[in-house]
Amino acid sequence: MENNEPRVAVVSGGSRGIGREVVLRLAQDGFDVGFCYRSDEEAARRLEKEVQEQGGKARGVRADVADGASVRSFVEEVENALGPIEAAVTSAGITRDNPLLLMPDEDWDAVLRTNLDGAYNLCRSVVFGMMKRKSGSIVNISSVAGVYGNPTQSNYAASKAGIIGFSRSLAKETGRYGIRANVVAPGFIETDMTAALGEQVRKRALDAIALRRLGRAEEVADLVSYLVSARSSYVTGAVFQIDGGITI
Ligand code: NAP
Repeated sequence: MENNEPRVAVVSGGSRGIGREVVLRLAQDGFDVGFCYRSDEEAARRLEKEVQEQGGKARGVRADVADGASVRSFVEEVENALGPIEAAVTSAGITRDNPLLLMPDEDWDAVLRTNLDGAYNLCRSVVFGMMKRKSGSIVNISSVAGVYGNPTQSNYAASKAGIIGFSRSLAKETGRYGIRANVVAPGFIETDMTAALGEQVRKRALDAIALRRLGRAEEVADLVSYLVSARSSYVTGAVFQIDGGITI
C-alpha cells in the first residue's frame, strides 16, 4: 500500500476522540478518508477543514453505525466521492455503565448495537469490494475491558469481546483474499469518554497503569496507522493492547 496511488480509508466515529486522531493520521499517511459520526456535525466539519489545511482530503457523513442501511449509504457515498475503500477502522463506540443488577435493557441493547453491530455493519459493507480487489485492511477498536472484563461494564465488555471473536473469524475467512483484520484494545485514553470518569476512578486507574498516565489518542492512531499500512503485511487476527501496562 506504500505507493503514490490515491488510497481510501473509512473510519466510523471519526468526529471525536480516537477516531478523529485516526482520520488525521491516515490523511497524513496519504489516505483520502471518509468518516462517519452520529450527531456532532460541527466537530465533523472542523475535522474536514483541518485535514484540508494539511493538504489532505476528508469527508464526514452523518450515519448511525447501529443501522445497517445508514452505514451502507455512508460507504456508498464515500466510494462515489473518493473511490474504492482499502482500509476500514471501526472506532464508533459508547458506554452505558451499570452493575448488571441495575442494567436497563435499553442500555444493554444500545451498547451492543453501537459497538458490536456497528463494527459488523461497517465491515459487512466494505468486505465484498475488498474481496473483489483482493486487498484490504480492517482495524476494529475493542478495549482491554473486552479481554479482561470490567465491573459495571458487562454490556461494554461483551460488545468489545465480541469484536475480538468477530475480527479473528473475519481474518480467517478473508485472509485468502488478501484481507487482514486486526484488533486494537486500548486501556484508558484521554478522550471525552474518559473525561466523564469520576476523580476516584481516574486515580485508581493511574495507580494501576505502569506508565502512570493515560494514553493519548494519537498514540492509538499511530498503531492503527501501522496496522493499515504495508509495514504490517504479515499481521492478521492479532489483538494489540495499548494500555500503558494496566493489565500486567
Ligand atoms: P468518544 O470520544 O466518545 O468518541 C466517540 C465517537 O463515536 C464520536 O465521533 C461519536 O460521534 C461516534 N459515535 C458514537 N455513537 C455512534 C453511532 N451510533 N454512529 C456513528 N458514530 C457514533 O470515544 P473514544 O474515547 O474516542 O472511543 C473510540 C473507541 O475506542 C470506542 O469504540 C471506545 O469504546 C474505544 N475505547 C476507548 C477507550 C478510552 O479510554 N477512550 C478505551 C478503550 C476503548 P458523535 O460525536 O457525533 O456522537
